[in-house]
Amino acid sequence: MKWRGRRQSSNVDDRRASGGGVGKGLGLAGILVVAAITLMSGGDFMDVIMNVASNAPAQVQEYKPTQEEEDLAEFVKVVFADTEDVWTDLFEQYGKTYEYPRLVIFRDSVQSGCGFASAQTGPFYCPADKSVYIDLSFYNELKNRFGASGDFAMAYVVAHEVGHHVQNLLGILDQVKAQQAKLDKVRANELNVRLELQADYLAGVWANRVDGMGYLDHGDIDEAMNAASAIGDDTIQKQAQGYVVPDSFTHGTSEQRSRWLYKGYKTGDLSEWDSFSANSL
Ligand SMILES: [Zn+2]
Repeated sequence: MKWRGRRQSSNVDDRRASGGGVGKGLGLAGILVVAAITLMSGGDFMDVIMNVASNAPAQVQEYKPTQEEEDLAEFVKVVFADTEDVWTDLFEQYGKTYEYPRLVIFRDSVQSGCGFASAQTGPFYCPADKSVYIDLSFYNELKNRFGASGDFAMAYVVAHEVGHHVQNLLGILDQVKAQQAKLDKVRANELNVRLELQADYLAGVWANRVDGMGYLDHGDIDEAMNAASAIGDDTIQKQAQGYVVPDSFTHGTSEQRSRWLYKGYKTGDLSEWDSFSANSL
């Protein structure tokens, strides 16, 4: 993606300098309590948000980011700025006003409006404070653990989380949460898959617009598709436990995720985004 020298979002809360020591402090204090496993409060790729019983004092350590990390921070800020531009435009087209989310860049662990989260949670969106949380080390995790390399793999992840923000602004997150409260686990999971596939679609719509502005490099869409596929439930479960349990899927299969992303990319608008009434996903 062409990003160097371009506008960076100013809606960014860079908390990298206060990270690092926090996890250690919690460990020593021994107050880390896993209070809730949340699907809807913003837990994302790993779907686990850990809440902490009380606030531990952060142990601030000297922090010197590498040039590679600084580049990555700049990159996600440009991507975030692009989501602001694209969604402002799209909301206007539908007679609505887009409210900017915030981007929180953290290191190792973070206190969010949805509770305490560690980097292992993966990037997530918290509807309570309308913020996207990301630890930049996820870029390397994508590359090394999931085999999804390239800058646009990371861009897709950010755009997917912003997709959840769009769902939040449109009331979809609340509706799904209310529905899920009435459903058994299996059917609540299935509803979550529909929510996630729609976020993938919305990431695709964003990619279409960025492509239209001339900022995509050859191969960028393939990088995003590859990432969407790599973080499919079936692929992750196969890697982790050697078999798949479809009833436990919360985000969709590799094939579904890459297909919904591509569908959004192809259409570039909201015409085919309704994953909730689709008979087959
Ligand atoms: Zn998601």
